[in-house]
Amino acid sequence: MMANYCSQELECERIIVESEDTDVLLLSMFHFARLKRFCEIFVRRGGRYVHVHTVVLRLAEKCNVSMQTITAALLSGFALTGCDTVSYPFRRGKKRAAKIILSSPLCLEVFSDFEAVAPDIEGPVLDEARNFMIRLDNKEAISSLNILRQHMFAQNKSELRSLPPTEDAFKQHVLRALYQLRWWKHAHESNPIIPSVTEFGRNVLNNCLVPITTLLLQFPTYIDVPSFCKCKSSKCQSSRCSCVKADVICTIACACATSADGCSREQVVEVEESESEHEF
Ligand SMILES: [Zn+2]
Ligand SMILES: [Zn+2]
Repeated sequence: MMANYCSQELECERIIVESEDTDVLLLSMFHFARLKRFCEIFVRRGGRYVHVHTVVLRLAEKCNVSMQTITAALLSGFALTGCDTVSYPFRRGKKRAAKIILSSPLCLEVFSDFEAVAPDIEGPVLDEARNFMIRLDNKEAISSLNILRQHMFAQNKSELRSLPPTEDAFKQHVLRALYQLRWWKHAHESNPIIPSVTEFGRNVLNNCLVPITTLLLQFPTYIDVPSFCKCKSSKCQSSRCSCVKADVICTIACACATSADGCSREQVVEVEESESEHEF
């Protein structure tokens, strides 16, 4: 990173970075907190100068954590929710993600220090990332993204892009976010050691890198023909019920799942494998 070179080798006391990109602002904050000698860093964006050094110092003071911790947590949250190279949750917003981190800067502490565990992310890293994602939807009482997805789908079937990912799709997303973090954190090195990209949620297809959306099937094996009914009052006892006609069970996709009368047919509560194609 040029700023690191200017500070360490040229002993510059003041560095100005010109970029409109939020990635660059957060990267500047992250590396400022790790420079061996203090210098002032400004990022010029929108015709204004952001005093990176002041912002980092004040955030660390406000959250009562070190500058390294707060900047690593913010960068981790950004990789998960808003950077240019990784998928991100629809309409959650970068500001909301930042607010969650600032209200609990240690929430991503494990995540921000992932190098020791990637790409085996089961356990604390995945748990912290999942909790963070669930907090974006204000649904802390729910512990699984599959359940949250089902819950939100039942509330609003018209906006599929707003659904959180399945647990399986989320794991691939976390891997991609970790890979981006690896690059960012080693941006000041001339020859960073970066593991293979295909270990982190992407495949090579026709010489192009493509994200792995999920490793699961698109439909559960118990559904041969995708079908859902629109019954709101018949409890799915009528032959007009599409699920009765197709001889498949009712699921959360059916109108009966949220009707006051309920459904007389068996429902599947846990939908582990359905709706795997996702905007996320
Ligand atoms: Zn029905
Ligand atoms: Zn039904």
